[in-house]
Formats: sequence, C-alpha cells, structure tokens
Amino acid sequence: MGSNFFILEEEKKKRREYHKNWRDKRTLEQKRRRKERQKNYHKEHIEEFRARRIERYKRDPGKQKKRWEYLRGRSIKKRSFILGLFGDRCVRCGFKDWRALQIDHIKGRGGEEKRLKGHSDRRGFLLEDVKKSPEKYQILCANCNWIKRYENNECIKRKEHLDAIA
Ligand SMILES: [Zn+2]
Repeated sequence: MGSNFFILEEEKKKRREYHKNWRDKRTLEQKRRRKERQKNYHKEHIEEFRARRIERYKRDPGKQKKRWEYLRGRSIKKRSFILGLFGDRCVRCGFKDWRALQIDHIKGRGGEEKRLKGHSDRRGFLLEDVKKSPEKYQILCANCNWIKRYENNECIKRKEHLDAIA
C-alpha cells in the first residue's frame, strides 16, 4: 500500500511536469507567432506609422528628442553587447577606444548584407546574425578596417578612386 502510494505520487508529478512543459512550449510558440504577426503588420503599415509619428512630433516636439535619445541609447547598448562578446579591442593593433571600434565581417561581405537588408534595422539584424554565427565577425578599429578593405579589394570604387589620385 505504502509503495503504491509513492508510485502514484511519482506518476502525478510526472504528469504535472509534462503538462507544465507543454504549456510553456505552447505559450512560447504563441508569443513567437504574435511577435511575427505584429512585425508583419508593422511592415505593411509602415507609412501610416510614420505619418502618425510625425503628427505626434508636431504636437509635441519634445517627443522627437526623446525618441532620438531612446534610439541612440538602444544602439549603444547593442554595440556594447557585441563588443563584450568579442573583447573590446581591435584584433590587429589592439586599439581600445570603443568610439572608433567597428564590427567587421571577416570575409568582407558586410556591405553586401547591409544593402540586401536595408539600413533601417541594420544593427538589430547584425545582432541577430552575430548571435547566430559569431565566427563570421571580429572587432577592428576604423583604421584597420579601412586598411583591410583596401588590402582585400572590398571597396573597389574607393580603390579605383585612390589609384586615380596617385
Ligand atoms: Zn586597429
């Protein structure tokens, strides 16, 4: 009798666990879908959103400043997150001032991906991609980044231009 009781308890616990997992999984999936729906809606109505925002700014100019500050803060946060991932110095020369550190696509396709994706959510996209495949990126300072681009012919137009001057 005693052992049966424990087996029942065990069984109940398992079932509770199972249902809890199921619930969690479902809510996660629901959340994901809701997010996706919202994203799509925003994409389809982006002009409306923009117009409404501009209307709001006209009524209350302080709001625009607030939004700029918010966006700026957000981008600095993302940036420092990425710098934290890779170490906060240039891998070539060890330069450390974060204001001139850049996230470099090792194979030099950054420009291409930027163009494909558009500029508006560049950093958001970058963050996602960095999390997904960090081996593709490294930190370079602005100088080393330009030198690398020149060496690898990643910026053909600029090279032609420089060669024309020389
Ligand atoms: Zn450097």
